Amino acid sequence: MITLKNIEKVYQTKTIETVALHNVNLHIPKGEFVSVMGPSGCGKSTLLNIMGLLDEPTNGIVEIDGNPISRYRDKELAHIRNQKIGFVFQSYHLINDLSVLDNVELPLLYRSGTSAAETRRLALTALEKVGLSARTKHYPTQLSGGQRQRVAIARALIGQPEIILADEPTGNLDSVMGEEIMNILLDLNRQDGTTIVMVTHDENMAQKTERLIRFFDGQQVSDAKTNAYDYQK
Ligand code: ADP
Ligand code: ADP
Repeated sequence: MITLKNIEKVYQTKTIETVALHNVNLHIPKGEFVSVMGPSGCGKSTLLNIMGLLDEPTNGIVEIDGNPISRYRDKELAHIRNQKIGFVFQSYHLINDLSVLDNVELPLLYRSGTSAAETRRLALTALEKVGLSARTKHYPTQLSGGQRQRVAIARALIGQPEIILADEPTGNLDSVMGEEIMNILLDLNRQDGTTIVMVTHDENMAQKTERLIRFFDGQQVSDAKTNAYDYQK
């Protein structure tokens, strides 16, 4: 699905140069649920941004389904991103002036060829999947953190992505709501076969995924199957 080869990412400002990723080699196969852990500043968000085609590495090769992305023009990359990738963030990134339903429909507004009726149908299906069918007319500020994150997941799902990139999706939630979100992600992975890469600070959440990659200072320091792996397969 996604392969990173010898990835280097350097942030250059006028005065400081920060090496955010150094010599990262990774392959994420289709259908895998991978967690990424590591201390603040070790490059986890940078890694997700590069996997999600939101940012380009300074050096190295990113391949999507075996094709190096350098082969594509910006417009094609945006298309691949819209078709294949769903993003979920720690702080939800919902628009407070829009209803739940309108928030979920947003990604399809940028995709031509989907009628308003079809967009609505897909949004309602996505909201049903995350258990929020009863909240379509609410606004984000009227929801709990866990519910907001479920809206954000529904928004990621409406484009029917092959892969979900989640940056600390349970980071702002208490353990009960965090668990609910984790269960939704596990269901998406097991039932729909959605590939998921999740950054987390929570060792318990990470152990529920099938593979755990640990980063330190811009580099992988370990990459192993978790105990949940045998149970799942
Ligand atoms: P993490 O997600 O693990 O906390 P990040 O990927 O956000 O780490 O950051 C990795 C390193 O790159 C950090 O030292 C951070 O300060 C730096 N960094 C991240 N984004 C930028 C940016 N846009 N400009 C400059 N430095 C950045
Ligand atoms: P979230 O994914 O939790 O909603 P953001 O996307 O706003 O959070 O930022 C993710 C992380 O990226 C932050 O914790 C921050 O450390 C890092 N980051 C973003 N931009 C910069 C920057 N210009 N310099 C350093 N770090 C940055």
